[in-house]
Amino acid sequence: MRTGAEGAFSILTLARAWRNRGAMGQAQLHIDLSALQANWTGLDAVSGAGVETAATVKANGYGLGAGAVATALANAGARRFFVAIAEEGVALRTALGPDLPIHVYGGHMQGDAAFISGANLIPMLNAPEQVQRHRAALPDHPYGVQLDTGMNRLGMEAPDWAALAPDLLAGPCQLVMSHLACADEPDHPMNAQQLAEFRRMTDGIAVARSLSATGGVLLGQEYHFDITRPGIGLYGGQPYAGARPVVRLSIPVIQTRDVRQGETVGYGNSFTAPRDMRLATIAAGYADGIHRALSGKATLWHGATACPLVGRVSMDLLTIDVSALQEAPQTLDLLCAHQGVDDIADQIGTIGYEILTSLGQRYSRIYI
Ligand SMILES: *Cc1c(COP(=O)(O)O)cnc(C)c1O
Repeated sequence: MRTGAEGAFSILTLARAWRNRGAMGQAQLHIDLSALQANWTGLDAVSGAGVETAATVKANGYGLGAGAVATALANAGARRFFVAIAEEGVALRTALGPDLPIHVYGGHMQGDAAFISGANLIPMLNAPEQVQRHRAALPDHPYGVQLDTGMNRLGMEAPDWAALAPDLLAGPCQLVMSHLACADEPDHPMNAQQLAEFRRMTDGIAVARSLSATGGVLLGQEYHFDITRPGIGLYGGQPYAGARPVVRLSIPVIQTRDVRQGETVGYGNSFTAPRDMRLATIAAGYADGIHRALSGKATLWHGATACPLVGRVSMDLLTIDVSALQEAPQTLDLLCAHQGVDDIADQIGTIGYEILTSLGQRYSRIYI
């Protein structure tokens, strides 16, 4: 046990080592902010000059870091942001500075008033109770309204809107919005149905309107209204087929070994080597958002060479067949040019959104 001056010295040494660490044991999530900016610019170009393209940065910027993501998007031209809950808005306000509007999809919940006024957030009021709560706590503070046009998730129902609209629209109302349930299926009749309902509820109002996230932007200009609010397309996900990939996930190899035909690998002996092979054990697992359902299914990449996962996904480790490689690799990539979030999602029956937002806190996030 070290004490006194020696202890202080070791803390300095530790701090220096931490600052200079080469991430030899920690997986690296590379986040390409210029690709993110290009995706925003690309989606912005889909709508007309009179349409403002905002950005949805909820769930910590879909797992990539809301502050860094929103700052990069603001530099690309985004002038308005959307988050899910007030706490996210407070964190974003700190990163973004005082000026740009931040909307909260979840509206005004009990206990939010200090956050909404302190961080100057715009709650999207979803129900008559939220209107009452907002008016009672912050009578002069700006708000928006979210309408339900058929998704039955968030938003004010038509009869409530009919009753409250004159009063709400006479106050400091910044935006009236709704959300599409099936926008990633362009031919789905629900799209036109919700569009008609949104128009029926809002045509003629003097307040700005918004209906579309990524999918709606791609449905065509009648879905754009005044403001669009894409999320997933910015981060490189479907349904924005033209998106540039934003994330690369490189996982360090801890050790390699040769196994003989007939030897078993990992928990449950779930993999038996069908021939002699070379395996690499790499430093990430289900605690890092690599779903255990990928056991026996995932593919890692070394340059252009595919290396299959063998056996189960463990909490902190994966075992990979690297027999195809000439030399022992230093890292293997799970997300790269050859394999995006949607490719991984397809392997386990989920969506790119879930893969992105599951990316864990143990990665070092490196912004390019
Ligand atoms: C998440 C969300 C968005 C962004 O949707 P993407 O499909 O990621 O573009 C927009 N509006 C609402 C209400 C949302 O919940």
